[in-house]
Amino acid sequence: MQTPAAKKIVILGTGGTIAGTSAQPGDNTSYRAAQLGVSALLDTVPGLQTAVAGHAIEVEQLAQIDSKDMSQAVWLRLAQRVAYWAADPAVRGVVITHGTDTLEETAYFLHAVLAPVKPVVLACAMRPATALTPDGPQNLLDALATVMHPDARGVLAVCAGRVHGALQVRKLHPYRLDAFGSGEAGPLAVVEEGRLRLLQSWPPPASPCHTLMAALDSQSPWPRVEIVMSHAGADGAIVRALQNCAEGTSALRGLVVAGTGNGTLHEDLEAALLDAQRSGLRVWRSTRCAEGQVLPTPADRIPDSAGLSPVKARIALMLELLGAG
Ligand code: ASP
Repeated sequence: MQTPAAKKIVILGTGGTIAGTSAQPGDNTSYRAAQLGVSALLDTVPGLQTAVAGHAIEVEQLAQIDSKDMSQAVWLRLAQRVAYWAADPAVRGVVITHGTDTLEETAYFLHAVLAPVKPVVLACAMRPATALTPDGPQNLLDALATVMHPDARGVLAVCAGRVHGALQVRKLHPYRLDAFGSGEAGPLAVVEEGRLRLLQSWPPPASPCHTLMAALDSQSPWPRVEIVMSHAGADGAIVRALQNCAEGTSALRGLVVAGTGNGTLHEDLEAALLDAQRSGLRVWRSTRCAEGQVLPTPADRIPDSAGLSPVKARIALMLELLGAG
């Protein structure tokens, strides 16, 4: 997988709790995310040079945000820079420091747009850099160990010693250090003392879509796709409101519905979604359940999201609409 010429690892900073600070050391909730630059973060990581085994490290600060505020502009820049560095034969892989809140969305977005062959590893933290025991330095080291693994490829996420694939990774917990899971598939690997122990074989390389980057760059804003949820009392008013509120370039183009159980929908919400579908809106069904996926049936009138969670299905539908022009 890796060529001998690949002697550089690129670290792209985007902010997040890993770069967060609080006025009171040890305050793990009232801190401000995205305060320290990525170079300052690296200074706090002991054993960095050993972990990268003589590889040079190149650093770029691409953004400085709390990832709850992730935007089209940051995603575009990130995709462009990852594509640029991944195409450089001197680069072994890319690490991205990122907040945990939308990490799974960025991972899926980069996977869907770039399908990189080289490892692109998102590193994060659940405690700010000023915590009594910050988890960011270890997560960064583990992300570098992942890039260094001879078979590593594709978009991966590393947190609390576990390596997750972009398709499966999902934030499960708002506070615990081990905040991410990969559902029924489980993590790809664990990182122990700087070494990866594989729990399953690496997923096969995905096929890149060569036209998407150009479309992302040329269309602004990207097609608007919103997420609605089916719940007790869901009467469809939200669907009608969304259809009516945005016009012109920000007009609604698609909806993902997080259904109950096997993608089932409140009958009133379903009626509104079918009306929206008849009017030309693209509608996909996912599930509110944290695990498993919607099993299609011949009677389905709204297509399912092919196993994608609601937030990832929103990106997939947006990219499909973007690719369609
Ligand atoms: N709000 C933070 C972020 O997503 C949370 C974190 O990084 O853990 O940037």
